[in-house]
Amino acid sequence: MKITVVGTGYVGLVTGIGLATLGHSVTCFDIDEQKIRLLEENELPIYEPGLQKLLEDAVLKQKLSFTSKREEAYEAVEYIFVAVGTPSYSDGSANLTHIVNMCRDIGMYAKQDVIVVTKSTVPVGTNDAMKEWIQAALQTDISVHLVSNPEFLREGCGVHDFFHGDRIVIGAEKTEIAKRVANLYKLLSIEVFTTDVRSAEMIKYASNAFLATKISFINEISSICEKVQADVTEVAAGMGIDKRIGPHFLQAGIGYGGSCFPKDTNALVQIAGNVAHDFRLLKAVIEVNNKQQASLVEKAEKVMNLQGKRVAVLGLSFKPNTDDIREAPSLLIIEQLLARGAHVIAYDPKAILHAKRIFMNRVQYSMDISEAIIKADVAFIVTEWESIRTYPIAKYVQLMNESIVFDGRNCYALEEVEQYAVDYYSIGRRVIRKRDVSHIF
Ligand code: NAD
Repeated sequence: MKITVVGTGYVGLVTGIGLATLGHSVTCFDIDEQKIRLLEENELPIYEPGLQKLLEDAVLKQKLSFTSKREEAYEAVEYIFVAVGTPSYSDGSANLTHIVNMCRDIGMYAKQDVIVVTKSTVPVGTNDAMKEWIQAALQTDISVHLVSNPEFLREGCGVHDFFHGDRIVIGAEKTEIAKRVANLYKLLSIEVFTTDVRSAEMIKYASNAFLATKISFINEISSICEKVQADVTEVAAGMGIDKRIGPHFLQAGIGYGGSCFPKDTNALVQIAGNVAHDFRLLKAVIEVNNKQQASLVEKAEKVMNLQGKRVAVLGLSFKPNTDDIREAPSLLIIEQLLARGAHVIAYDPKAILHAKRIFMNRVQYSMDISEAIIKADVAFIVTEWESIRTYPIAKYVQLMNESIVFDGRNCYALEEVEQYAVDYYSIGRRVIRKRDVSHIF
């Protein structure tokens, strides 16, 4: 099948390279010429584990090409997969500028019947509007079908999720069109759930809102645990055994970030508001998350003055195994620290380039944890990269000026921390202080 994937970001590249790996002829199109130049040199503009090898294989088999030319992207193609960004306006509603521009381009350049498959997360009703926008720009008498096929991949596990995701949701007006899109994925043994277009659009928002709710719920529980001397990791483990609850998304921490949850929860509040529904539950979820992101520095302030302190921030990406820092808790935490007069040195294995564009030389950077914490007065663990989770606690004691650690991701077991002369503050668990273990040394 001849397919064009529009947008070569996290979703577009995983989708395009994944579909090419399944044997389809795929062209990845982007208006960002620099990204296309990189891809033509077999270089990925993003970090996504496992994707580089698949890219090289698909190019070798001549299943994958790249272009920044609209006519090459749209003229002779059976399927167009939409993976352009849908960022937020300041009121939280979805900014559909990229979608609108793309629809105009499709209308201008498409020369044969085409099925447009929307993977971008778009408000309910957008696929219907897209059909009208494309048809209004058509230069040729062709038929255009719109299919909603929301994307559920997790950055950092995108390749796994393309080949082994939990479900493929297809929302179409006609069964025959849904079948044709499902057929593109037939080599995958993933359950296909077929529904109408608007329900498919809503499934994406409802899923993300539900996961965000689980996160904010356990974070609220963690705040209470701190006050009643319970341990949130024990509580979550005990809750998660119940099959009706499940163990996933019950890790207390410093809140969710990334390009999806913050944007999609805000957009769903707006979508509800547009039909006069006050989505109070989701508003509370967002509020709890904002509070949680700010909580680690506030906790630190209660026990020390951060002015003039050398602070190591460990982890910049919004979660491990990605270079994506969009809406990452690290961004707020670093701003809080700088505002309080701290000197920040940030460690991350993949995201430093992106962080430099934001913080420039207001922050020092290191790709080595030991270098970041050496002579530091405090360390903040912000992202649970494997390198951070497995970093020996003894090193904090050896290298830091003052071994004080604020762990926003509960990376270490308390029993282990207790073996070392470290002040350790985590989320929803008891505090460990050096003096408590002084008898050991
Ligand atoms: P991204 O910002 O990484 O990539 C979007 C790309 O689209 C950019 O390279 C941009 O240059 C390109 N683009 C913009 N307008 C274009 C146009 N008119 N023609 C061609 N290319 C154009 O975005 P992303 O993270 O891949 O997300 C894409 C969509 O998928 C969003 O709607 C997002 O909400 C949704 N989504 C993202 C994830 C995720 O984990 N990133 C997961 C599920 C769904």
